[in-house]
Amino acid sequence: MDKDRSDKAQTYVVEHLDPELGPWSALEYQAIAYECEAAGVKFCLSSVPRQLELPSELRAMKSLVIEHQNVEWLFKDVKERVCLLDPAAKTELSPDDAANFNVFLFGGILGDDPPRDRTSELRMKGFDGRRLGPVQMTTDTAVRVTRMVIQQKLPLNEIPYVDYPELRIDEHESTEMPFRYVKNADGMPVMPEGMMDLIKSDSEKGFEDLL
Ligand code: SAH
Repeated sequence: MDKDRSDKAQTYVVEHLDPELGPWSALEYQAIAYECEAAGVKFCLSSVPRQLELPSELRAMKSLVIEHQNVEWLFKDVKERVCLLDPAAKTELSPDDAANFNVFLFGGILGDDPPRDRTSELRMKGFDGRRLGPVQMTTDTAVRVTRMVIQQKLPLNEIPYVDYPELRIDEHESTEMPFRYVKNADGMPVMPEGMMDLIKSDSEKGFEDLL
């Protein structure tokens, strides 16, 4: 990382914790990169294995900084400025935390149901933690909500959410997403571009597997 990491500029860091990078994570990371760029904050994907081939769409994102080092090493001199967004933290994130932290750290893990608490891999390293309410979010939602609290100074309980949305796959089938999302002006969950198509094709595959 460059030297200005200790200034007030905000950096959003996703520590990639899986050995692979599936299409679902790639879409989430792309959405985070796109939104961070529009919001004028840095986005860093850390702990990316050297041998991992990132999809070309992701590599093409100018706003994305790819780091092979882990977050602990990258921010070792400013550890007290790093806030881990942790579903098990005792304190909720508040707009006042903008004065306490300028690096916001997320686990680059797919949500799982029930959650297996893989965020603990980052908690163990001793970062200060904050929760974004009691419901599990996707990583891109967690980054979006953190930016709303920290940049827009919106308290967590004033953000509109959709919990466990039921997505229509076709006229016969729908699937429930076991996560919390931000609600858009049309009352729909905010999701990365292309995610709905991916969910549809995954669910068709699942159906074929049964045949
Ligand atoms: N199932 C995983 C969490 C995956 S969500 C687990 O059990 O640990 C991916 C990341 O989004 C988490 O690592 C965390 O940084 C963030 N996140 C999701 N929901 C959150 C919440 N309610 N509060 C704080 N952080 C959250």
